[in-house]
Amino acid sequence: MSTTTPDDDPLSGFDSRAVRAGHVRTAEQENAEPIFPSSSFTFESAAQAAARFSGAEPGNVYSRFTNPTVRTFCERIAALEGGEAAVGTASGMSAVLATTMGLLKSGDHIVASRTLFGTTLSLFTKYLPRFGIDVSWVGLSDYDGWAQAIRPQTRMLFAETPSNPLNEVADIGRLAGMARDAEALLVIDNCFCTPALQRPLELGADLVIHSATKYLDGQGRCVGGAVVGDAQRVGEEVHGFVRTAGPSMSPFNAWVFLKGLETLSLRMQAHSRNAQQVAEWLAAHPAVERVHYAGLPGHPDHELAGRQQAGFGGIVAFEVPGGREAAWHVIDQTRMLSITGNLGDAKSTITPPATTTHGTISDELRAAAGITQGLIRVSVGLEDPVDIIRDLERGLSGLPSCR
Ligand SMILES: *Cc1c(COP(=O)(O)O)cnc(C)c1O
Repeated sequence: MSTTTPDDDPLSGFDSRAVRAGHVRTAEQENAEPIFPSSSFTFESAAQAAARFSGAEPGNVYSRFTNPTVRTFCERIAALEGGEAAVGTASGMSAVLATTMGLLKSGDHIVASRTLFGTTLSLFTKYLPRFGIDVSWVGLSDYDGWAQAIRPQTRMLFAETPSNPLNEVADIGRLAGMARDAEALLVIDNCFCTPALQRPLELGADLVIHSATKYLDGQGRCVGGAVVGDAQRVGEEVHGFVRTAGPSMSPFNAWVFLKGLETLSLRMQAHSRNAQQVAEWLAAHPAVERVHYAGLPGHPDHELAGRQQAGFGGIVAFEVPGGREAAWHVIDQTRMLSITGNLGDAKSTITPPATTTHGTISDELRAAAGITQGLIRVSVGLEDPVDIIRDLERGLSGLPSCR
């Protein structure tokens, strides 16, 4: 649609798009993006109302499906991921829901990685089967498993890479090839990397999902989500579901996410740098059994992550021997880290996944996802790493050495 060539596009670089894409100045000539807290928009005439409602004339109608601030956010995240269209949603979970409801029907089949976000696991096991959509579970990088699980009814391959919380990584290009052969869509939840570190559409994925709640906001303020992809599937079909069912992004939240996107690259680099330091310190600690961070050479996906991502991200998980009691001890001794399930915040957060983010799934699924009782997840924030490390040391120093 665009007629500009890369040479004359004033926003040719990623960071320029992160700061400016999608904002069209109003007659007020504002420099910062305005918030439009208006539930509906007016028309010049009854004829214009009819044209806007039918879609014959583009323009604002009603903020469940057309809001200028939300549109600015959608254009910006689409520009960053390299997609033709994006839909803003009320949460990351409603982005997942809108993707499945907008694109699948009863009788269709999904193949999904076992290591999905806990609530996505619940949606796929508890609710989708009620509507005749079956899900098969495979190991994230078990490519034979993916191939064997694909059936004639398979319409979607769904993966999160890197995975939460163990930082396992899948080869997106390889999964995209399998999806193409099966005439299915590859959907990647890009929450952990964000487009600053990884752009799944460029690697062959069809759709990207975001929980904007995490790094896109970056300061733990608002809940929201996004789906990015092509004009037909996302711009028409997923948008059609959101417009009809109503899990829409609020204009205020869209504005907060726009402000977050302006600093996305800088933040993701700083999160990655701090996480690397924390992970290396944990790996050398005698009371720590195992560290799951792809930036460590010993991580099974270190090489693939280095190739596929522009950084290893801000999430570090580690295991202490002694199960739940030991994990809770480490968490309870912290004085700076926030004990909360959220991630992707400037503030470092700490949580035991087995009893929080992955607490409501079955013991079987939890074990298959590798979530042990002694596992601790830290979303490494933007504080001084020395203070993050000191906070973890308070609890770890009271645990027996396991070396
Ligand atoms: C948080 C999260 C979600 C869900 O997003 P909400 O905004 O909490 O609804 C989905 N996927 C991943 C990887 C997440 O971390």
